[in-house]
This record gives sequence, structure tokens and C-alpha cells, in this order.
Amino acid sequence: MISINGLTKNFGELEVLKGINLQVEKGRVVVVIGPSGSGKTTLLRCLNILEVPTSGVVSIGEQTLDFSDRVANKHIAAFRRQTGMVFQGYNLFPHKTALENVMEGPLTVKKETKKAARTKAASLLNKVGLGDKMDVYPYQLSGGQQQRVGIARALAMEPNVMLFDEPTSALDPELVGEVLKVMKDLAKEGMTMMVVTHEMRFAKEVADEIIFMEDGIVVEKGAPATLFSNPQQVRTRQFLRMIQ
Ligand code: ADP
Repeated sequence: MISINGLTKNFGELEVLKGINLQVEKGRVVVVIGPSGSGKTTLLRCLNILEVPTSGVVSIGEQTLDFSDRVANKHIAAFRRQTGMVFQGYNLFPHKTALENVMEGPLTVKKETKKAARTKAASLLNKVGLGDKMDVYPYQLSGGQQQRVGIARALAMEPNVMLFDEPTSALDPELVGEVLKVMKDLAKEGMTMMVVTHEMRFAKEVADEIIFMEDGIVVEKGAPATLFSNPQQVRTRQFLRMIQ
């Protein structure tokens, strides 16, 4: 479902991604871990082209972009539509209800009818456990509830892949579980997911594969059972020791 080959990203002189190669099969959940500044967020942002890679080839589903050439904006827009992204902050429209927030993408980008968008949004809000909050505004919701609306909003675009960038980092500890539960359910349903998180329990329970990044490269990857209990690289060992 996802294939990344020789992906690099520079910000001016700073080389943040130094040639990433990764494959993610359909229905798999990959959790990316690593120290702050190692390039995890940039990797996710390059996958939905919020950052334009400096070089490399990225494929999602049937679509491939080769960044050794200049890529036309219309190709980027079509490519981006295959991914749903959930951010640390929820970025909901404050003047729209939960339901309207989830309807917005299907209405404006997919040009769905209001009726179809409303039916889908209601069903997605039910799915994330917010069936009783459809008509309230973001300020009336807890952080965990807002983040669940954020997930429903991303799902409304019917993406092939869901990208999560530290989705629980801004939440009070007691609200983390409800968001992780929605993510676990999605994983069980077979959604292909790439998740940057510090939630190691989630990583151990849900991930099919852990990617350890440091300094713009993939240092080590493997199944959680192997990587956490028997890391091969010194740098992975050092990082795991620090966070445990
Ligand atoms: P992580 O998610 O692992 O903490 P990031 O991908 O956020 O790492 O950042 C990797 C490096 O890239 C950091 O040194 C960061 O300062 C730098 N960086 C990220 N975004 C930008 C940007 N838009 N402009 C310049 N430097 C950036």
C-alpha cells in the first residue's frame, strides 16, 4: 500500500531525511518511534506531501510520485486524497459543529451531496463513540472527543491510509485511552496505518512493525516483540533504555 524509496528532505542546509526506504503492506500498522528531531513528523508530512520531498519516489496505492522531477500540483492533490492525517492539535473549525466538521471534506473536496455527506458523517461519529455529540461545537468537547472528531473527519475522505502524528500527545492522561481505543478498532478493521507516537503500550499491542528512526535514517525495524525485547542496534538499545 505504501512504498518509499530513497526519500530525502532538506530544509535549507539541514538534511532531515537521509534516504528512507520503507514498504507497508495493506492492512498493516506501522509505529514510528525515535528521539525528538529524528525526522518522524517530516516523514509523515512527506507521505501526504504537506512537505514536498527533496528527492525519492513515494507510492501509495496505485499512485506514484517521483520527486527527482518537478511534480505538478494536480498530481499532489490527487495523491494527498489517498491519505487521512490526524495531528497532535485537532484543527477543527471552531464555528462548525462536530457533524459539520466531518461533512466539510466530502462536501467541498469530494463534491458529495449534503444528504450523503450528512449520513456518512453521522455514521462515522457513531463509530468513534460521539453519536450524542453531533450538534455540539468543538469548545463544548473534551480534547479526547475533539481528537475523535478529527479521526472521523479524516475517515470521511475514505482514505487508503491513515497517518497519525502524535495524536495523543496534547491530551490529559485520562483522555488518551479513548483515542487509542478508536485507533485500535480501526487497525482491527484492516486500515493501513502509520503512527508516530510515544505510547509504547499501544505500539506493543497494535503495531505489526516498529520503525526506529534517528537522525533522518531508519536505524532498525522489526516486529514489536523482537524490537522491544531484543534490539540489534546499539542506538535502538540506548533509546529504549531511556524511555523505559
Ligand atoms: P521528530 O518528529 O522526530 O521530532 P521532525 O520531523 O519534527 O522530527 O524534525 C526533524 C528536524 O527537522 C528537526 O531538526 C526540525 O527542527 C527540522 N524541521 C522540521 N520542520 C522544519 C521546517 N519546516 N523548517 C526547518 N526545519 C524543520
